[in-house]
Amino acid sequence: MSIQSDTLHQPKRIAIMGSTGSIGTQALEVIKEQSQYFEVEVLVANANAELLIQQAIEFKPNAVVIGDESKYKQVKDALFAHDIKVFAGSKSIEQIVEMETIDVVLASIVGYAGLASTVNAIKHHKKIALANKETLVVAGELVTKLAYEQAVNIYPVDSEHSAIFQCLAGEFENKIEKIYLTASGGPFRGKDKSFLQHVKKEQALKHPNWVMGAKITIDSASLMNKGLEVIEAKWLFDLKPEQIDVIVHPQSIIHSIVQFTDGSMKAQMGLPDMKLPIQYAMAYPQRLQNNFPRFDFLNYPQLTFEKPDTETFANLKLAYQAMNKAGNMPCVLNAANEVVVQAFLEDKIGFLQMSDIIAKAMDKMPFIKQPSLQDYFQCDKETRILVKELIVG
Ligand code: NDP
Repeated sequence: MSIQSDTLHQPKRIAIMGSTGSIGTQALEVIKEQSQYFEVEVLVANANAELLIQQAIEFKPNAVVIGDESKYKQVKDALFAHDIKVFAGSKSIEQIVEMETIDVVLASIVGYAGLASTVNAIKHHKKIALANKETLVVAGELVTKLAYEQAVNIYPVDSEHSAIFQCLAGEFENKIEKIYLTASGGPFRGKDKSFLQHVKKEQALKHPNWVMGAKITIDSASLMNKGLEVIEAKWLFDLKPEQIDVIVHPQSIIHSIVQFTDGSMKAQMGLPDMKLPIQYAMAYPQRLQNNFPRFDFLNYPQLTFEKPDTETFANLKLAYQAMNKAGNMPCVLNAANEVVVQAFLEDKIGFLQMSDIIAKAMDKMPFIKQPSLQDYFQCDKETRILVKELIVG
């Protein structure tokens, strides 16, 4: 990741992709609290027109985009009296990031759907605050190469990657020996397969430490989230697979650790609150004063660490396999995961079936060693078709 100096003279104008989601709404809270530093330039949502309208009236962006075209009229009519441009459809989402007035694009659309707009934002030299890890999982090589060529900085929002990034401040010339991504272990930590066989989505949606969107919450319960983060870390910090380790830390206070070549380790810690990494990514390199709750050691007399159980939670292993194989395999992993998570949320498959189906998809999809962006689009599409067949059959 290349770093350029960047200070806050004028409010940064932010495009929030996925403004109605968990990250998007928390970003708006940060912007409200830090209004001298940030302004909302663009808001993008998929289907939640009511919340998008409410946000637009409150934050007065230059433009809004609603992905679902059938909701265009509803949004347009509601914002008629306000000086706000309204667009609809996935092409508009991709194109809106080209607006000259945008300084930073907060990529917080969930899943593969966030890829095209992030790529276009990089092409148009926008700084990226990246929450959408799937972008780097699917097309990490291509995206980081493009960012390098366009001299675009990607600031991580994911708390673990923000932690690594914060540990690296002042260390960019020093080599990393290893990083440790911490994992809470999710709601099913310590459970075995016979328990997991019967768990329902309501249980999986109850994360012990974080309140997040449904997809990432299921990913956290299945350890796929950590697998996706391992791949994201590889690309963000230019690491080899063997330099990335995962350690379960149920309290989620240490957000991740860097070990340097002299054996010294740096960790970043704090209460689990996504507003901090969101603010750090949007304000980089400044740390803005805020009133977020502070950590108190006496409330956490013990910080503990465990090895992840990759026999029970096969997804983490599958993610390492996909990363090691490289090419289009992480794209297959991601597409298969998005489809099985949706199927689990719709009660069509059980919790353990998710990993089984992902493994089958990785086995069956043709391998492409050096995929182009077009290959990724095709691979994503074909994997989804295959996985839907596997679910039905
Ligand atoms: P949510 O499900 O809460 O929100 C997703 C957002 O994306 C919503 O605004 C949604 O719009 C929008 N969206 C969904 N599909 C599309 C689409 N096809 N086109 C355009 N917009 C779309 O997700 P999260 O906020 O939890 O997660 C967002 C991203 O951030 C994910 O990649 C996740 O992995 C990552 N992340 C999240 C963390 C968290 O704490 N939540 C932590 C670290 C990373 P609508 O509401 O209208 O459907």
